[in-house]
Amino acid sequence: MNKKAFNLMNLIRPNVLKMASYSSARDEFNGSKSDMIFLDANENPHNSNVNRYPDPQQKQLKELISQQKSIPVSNILLGNGSDEVIDLIFRAFCEPKKDNILTLPPTYGMYNVLANLNDVENREVLLGSDFQPNIKEVLKTIDSKTKIIFLCSPNNPTGNLIEIDRIVYLLNHFKGILVIDEAYIDFANQASWSNKLGEFPNLMVIQTLSKAYGLAGIRLGICYGSTNIISVLNKIKPPYNINQLTQNKAIERLLNSDKIKNEIYCILDMRDSLYKALVKVSFIKTVYPSEANFLLIVVDDAEKRHKQLIEKDIVVRMRNSQPLCENSLRISIGTTAEVEKLILTLKSLEQ
Ligand SMILES: *Cc1c(COP(=O)(O)O)cnc(C)c1O
Repeated sequence: MNKKAFNLMNLIRPNVLKMASYSSARDEFNGSKSDMIFLDANENPHNSNVNRYPDPQQKQLKELISQQKSIPVSNILLGNGSDEVIDLIFRAFCEPKKDNILTLPPTYGMYNVLANLNDVENREVLLGSDFQPNIKEVLKTIDSKTKIIFLCSPNNPTGNLIEIDRIVYLLNHFKGILVIDEAYIDFANQASWSNKLGEFPNLMVIQTLSKAYGLAGIRLGICYGSTNIISVLNKIKPPYNINQLTQNKAIERLLNSDKIKNEIYCILDMRDSLYKALVKVSFIKTVYPSEANFLLIVVDDAEKRHKQLIEKDIVVRMRNSQPLCENSLRISIGTTAEVEKLILTLKSLEQ
């Protein structure tokens, strides 16, 4: 099994390779002395707090992430949510109408939306009935124009981790870039793939502060990749893509890591309780095991149960339009009180 050569330069779009990035005022001068007179960015000098443009490289925030995750700053790029990161990856590597990507449904819907937006073909290979990728099928479906494979692990909406051996096989046999979306990794019983960047030049990992870190409202996505990949994305990202309020809030939260750990612990505990309660409900046919902060269940009639829950003021996510997810609902793990109310409500619907 010979490893295919990976050549990043062959993957980058020619226009991206050629272009120069916008050089912002704060890129040109970014001294840290606090008593400088800043007359370079046409800001209003009278307001306080957020009158200045934010640091385009988010140095302080990245250094904190770098410390906590043991990954050098040069391997980190931040986005306005992971959705911006995914869009940047498309724009860096995929030539519209020519290149293609591969995804493995049922999975996160944004890969397909962003493929459509960027006019890039999305080749889909369904997961198996165990929700694991069929690697032979994947390798048969890709061609020389396949730039990216998106894998989500733990996968949304199925909740399972993708097996390590299958990912390693793909990393070794795919000449393009393998993006592993780890939005739910903090809930999983497995280490992040971000520790393997040194072994695999074609590996990229995406994380987010939207789920375990409880900051969906501030929009902060994190992307890890080789320094070469990160510099390409840096070149094309909007200069001030992470606003000052988001940077401040993220730093404040990351410094409170004990609180985050505790919340994750509570959510995992609640996931176990909910699992045990759901398997006892008569109209729930399957409760899939989960490595994330949600449970995917199969019911007798998803539309009917979804509607009944809404009538009782509980909103869960219908996933029954996705392949392999017939009559499926996805339920996020809420607080103790919310989960208790859900369980009582489900029981009341049994007769
Ligand atoms: C929720 C989620 C994200 C998060 O996206 P943000 O833009 O960072 O909020 C990314 N990927 C998956 C699979 C998700 O479920």
